Amino acid sequence: MACAKLPVVALCSYKWCKARIENVLYVPKIRKNLFSVGVCTDKGFDVLFKGKLVTINRDGEAFGVGVQQDNQIYRMLFKVRKPSVAREANVSTVNLRVWHERMGHVNNKVLRKMTQKGLIRGVKLADIDNFFCESCAFGKAHRLSFKKNETNRKTKPGEYIHSDVWGPFSTESIGDARFCIIIKDDASEFRYLYFMKHKSDVFGIFQKYEKLINNKFGKPMKILRTDNSREYCNLEMKRYLEPRGIEMVNTAPYTPQQNGKAERDNRTIIESARTMITAKKLPLSLWAEAVGTAVTVLNRVLATGKEKTPYEIWFGKTPDVSHFRVFGSDAYMHIDKQFRKKLDPKATKLILVGYQNDSINYRLYNPQNNKIYISRDVIFNEKSQLGLEIGKEFEYILPADENEDVAKPVEQQQKEECLEAQEEYKNQLGNDRQLRDRANIHRPLRFEIDRLR
Ligand SMILES: [Zn+2]
Repeated sequence: MACAKLPVVALCSYKWCKARIENVLYVPKIRKNLFSVGVCTDKGFDVLFKGKLVTINRDGEAFGVGVQQDNQIYRMLFKVRKPSVAREANVSTVNLRVWHERMGHVNNKVLRKMTQKGLIRGVKLADIDNFFCESCAFGKAHRLSFKKNETNRKTKPGEYIHSDVWGPFSTESIGDARFCIIIKDDASEFRYLYFMKHKSDVFGIFQKYEKLINNKFGKPMKILRTDNSREYCNLEMKRYLEPRGIEMVNTAPYTPQQNGKAERDNRTIIESARTMITAKKLPLSLWAEAVGTAVTVLNRVLATGKEKTPYEIWFGKTPDVSHFRVFGSDAYMHIDKQFRKKLDPKATKLILVGYQNDSINYRLYNPQNNKIYISRDVIFNEKSQLGLEIGKEFEYILPADENEDVAKPVEQQQKEECLEAQEEYKNQLGNDRQLRDRANIHRPLRFEIDRLR
């Protein structure tokens, strides 16, 4: 017999949330795990049996839920958490629409191609059916056609660099920026994005990037192509570039067709950002976060005529996007014990507004104090329709059918939801294909309980 702490996950709001059960005893011959009500109440929890449900609460907060089975035994919705999860376990199977939204409303054909060819890790599509995306229809009004006669330069990464300065934006960002500068390597199409309060910051930012290229490739860049802005075309910049042998090429003003590829790329970023903001009805002050997310995503998206993503050409490995979630989703950030009082909730509701650099940390926005928080300890509700609907209470949705298998894994639930969505989609199209009898479609079971971690 051994006494230990057991890491588990408990079902809540479509996801398995982390929790811990203490004083676990291992009894070799016992085949079922037993969970003690007595220990629970001794530890100050209230155990409430009502109808077919048992809930464990403390100080009015829900900590776990169980459901009565046919044999009168209650089954707790816990699963043992494995400490070393295989990479495959990170692959989430959701439908094309969700991945389309997670990847900044990327073109579906490109998304399907990338998953089929294994160009991004962490994505498994439950379906590949096309659908209508209203946000895209609003956010992407223009389409620039790809000119066939455009010559494709043969450059090596780090040799030929494009840079554009954007702004001033009409609204200040959360970090007080009015401008941003985008610097893109021509060969890989990998982009870096920097935000600025003043246009005069361009020189310092460019120096930083130039050093990065030097360190990465061991030699200076050859050509810098800019949009002819004053911030680039000045004496200070000239004095910096000349001794390093860097040639500056300017796109003539008012002739964007001269640089159609860069123009199209800029538009793709802006459209993606705009679509993400309008899709969740977010305030315009989040423009910098949306543009940042669009760049992070597009660095992981296959460009026209390329065989690898910009990320893979730049870093030499396929990007893992398994942690990507829909921009603007409700995000419940765990609050550490040391920062909360006894009766404070364990999580605070924020809004997902992107990723911290290339880490797996999320950037989360708190509309109440207008601040950005960085955390990886987050549970998302990607189905939230309006990002700013703060303070809505959780509600229990009780099982509709008592014979329903309540311990169904979440993946299974998601799969069923996808199937339902597909059926609905076919229905809307007036497709006369045989539809499943709706009575046989299990209604997904929802337990929206509070988090344990
Ligand atoms: Zn879309």
